[in-house]
Amino acid sequence: MEELKVKMKEMKLEIETLKIELNKIEKLKIKRNYYQENKEDIKRKAQEYKKKNREVIQEQRKEEINCECGCLVTKQHLTRHLVTMKHTKRMNNVK
Ligand SMILES: [Zn+2]
Repeated sequence: MEELKVKMKEMKLEIETLKIELNKIEKLKIKRNYYQENKEDIKRKAQEYKKKNREVIQEQRKEEINCECGCLVTKQHLTRHLVTMKHTKRMNNVK
């Protein structure tokens, strides 16, 4: 009799574990379904996000800053400006 009780307990535990597993699978299915059903929407949102960010990055690049030589250059051109003759000459004059 005692053995049977133990077996019953084990079975119950197994069923519980199975239920949890099933629950996980269901949740995954729901997630997948959500993606499938909203694929276009999700893609569109991601593209919009990228586009917005690109605009912000471009705006930042357009921003003008004062180079240490005294020139006013855009951030976009700063790295290029740093190797120009104009910058080098001006820097020599400063020193
Ligand atoms: Zn400069």
